[in-house]
Amino acid sequence: MSNLDKYFQKIRKRGHRLTNNRVAIIEILENQHLNFKELQKELNKRGFHNVSSIYNNLDFLVRENIIVELYIGNTKYYDLAAFNPGHDDDNHIHIIDHKTNKINDLVSNEIFDFIKNHPDLKDINPDYIRIIIGKNSNRNN
Ligand SMILES: [Zn+2]
Repeated sequence: MSNLDKYFQKIRKRGHRLTNNRVAIIEILENQHLNFKELQKELNKRGFHNVSSIYNNLDFLVRENIIVELYIGNTKYYDLAAFNPGHDDDNHIHIIDHKTNKINDLVSNEIFDFIKNHPDLKDINPDYIRIIIGKNSNRNN
């Protein structure tokens, strides 16, 4: 089963309607992190123009833990949560390239384990770990 099918099945299993708009949002967010404007632009291309229904569907998908909202600077991005090979709904490491504004997932369970097992966090037992790493392309060499 593909990751996309897992999302679709999760929605159906909970007795919710898998509308074309919800399918489109999930498909568009596969492998990319988009802010509302970027997502809206992609949805427009697929014939979804109703802004309030886009907002309603995003709210629904966030409530169902299918999408997470991710704040980088003052901008909110949308990202697939569960079943994402890069992270789950609680734990993310994102790298933002300041030159291109592209956001990528860093896949590293070692980092999560290291943080969770760190002596300073032993009594805290963190609910989630979200890390944003900024990258400046100009500094590569
Ligand atoms: Zn991500």
